[in-house]
Amino acid sequence: MDKYYPVALPVLNGNEKKYVMDCLDSTWISSNGSYIKRFEEEFAAFCRVKHAIACSNGTTTLHLALLAHGVGPGDEIIVPTLTFVATANAVTYCGAKPVFVDSEPETWNIDPKRIEERITPRTKGIVAVHLYGHPADMDPIRQLAQQYGLFVMEDAAEALGAEYRGQRTGGLGDSAIFSLFGNKIITTGEGGVLTTNDDALADRARLLRGQGMDPERRYFHTVVGYNYRMTNIQAAIGCAQLQNAEWHIAQRLRIASHYTEYLRDCTALTLPIQQEWAKNVYWLFSVVLREGTEAKRDEVIRRLQLRGIESRPFFYPMHVLPPYKQLQAASEFPVAGRIAAQGINLPSYGTLSEADVRYISSTLVNIVSSL
Ligand SMILES: *Cc1c(COP(=O)(O)O)cnc(C)c1O
Repeated sequence: MDKYYPVALPVLNGNEKKYVMDCLDSTWISSNGSYIKRFEEEFAAFCRVKHAIACSNGTTTLHLALLAHGVGPGDEIIVPTLTFVATANAVTYCGAKPVFVDSEPETWNIDPKRIEERITPRTKGIVAVHLYGHPADMDPIRQLAQQYGLFVMEDAAEALGAEYRGQRTGGLGDSAIFSLFGNKIITTGEGGVLTTNDDALADRARLLRGQGMDPERRYFHTVVGYNYRMTNIQAAIGCAQLQNAEWHIAQRLRIASHYTEYLRDCTALTLPIQQEWAKNVYWLFSVVLREGTEAKRDEVIRRLQLRGIESRPFFYPMHVLPPYKQLQAASEFPVAGRIAAQGINLPSYGTLSEADVRYISSTLVNIVSSL
């Protein structure tokens, strides 16, 4: 039991080192260089979309995408309450207001049935988050968006390679963002990618990413832009990670199938599902205690830690966080509230062996059945 299992661990077992050394040897270490273009082309091909725009991290990518959609002060953007805080913060950066929606009990994603009641004349778009690797139910979301003239953005930070009715994330809405943080399915250390099939949106995003500088006229800045660029070193790592993307995803599926096998008989736990219309990529294999409170869940996490297993609580829903809790009453989010209080993310990284998953699972089963 001297082994320690973190929740996440980057696996850099391809050409990462070779490509980074190439950047160092050539001195192309900043945000120009051949790996950036190559990474963008290969990322777009992977997601089967026209454009991929590489950025400094997932949060700046979210901000950039919202700006490219024209989001600004006075606008309302619908987001799930159960997500990582960056989704809501990016809306706030634009001076707009996030409007939260409760989760579906099965997938934990935004509940499409609860969206329409939140649409007002100020609503400009919907951000669907594919939580923990399971795609959100996009058809009803797209239908509402069409009906009310809204844009649909995917926060696919956690769901590279996931599919909705046979179509990959990244191309399921008007735009999508990915994160390439160290714990994501593929990583560039820090990094993000915006994907879209919309030429004009891609142009606006590129302009804003590079200080708003006219591509034809150096130092002529047509709008107030940002420096949200990715470096060639990040892109070099990204190219190597993308070469093995199918492997990285296959490991997630393998780990999920081991967990499912070892945990499925534990009646104290609800396991992640995969809707028949979905391919879940199981970014973090996550379980929800069937009963109990946040205190009980935190006790499980504490006891796992004592046995050398890191686990994490689910994200706090946005409606309980200090910057956002005054916006809507907690009673509007019974499903997300319960899932968030009872959810646990388990170690989920590519190099976990079946024996590792068996050990983690049996330890978890022992803990939950002794509480
Ligand atoms: C990781 C993540 C982000 C932010 O990505 P960073 O690269 O860490 O800035 C945004 N949304 C979701 C849902 C995430 O999981």
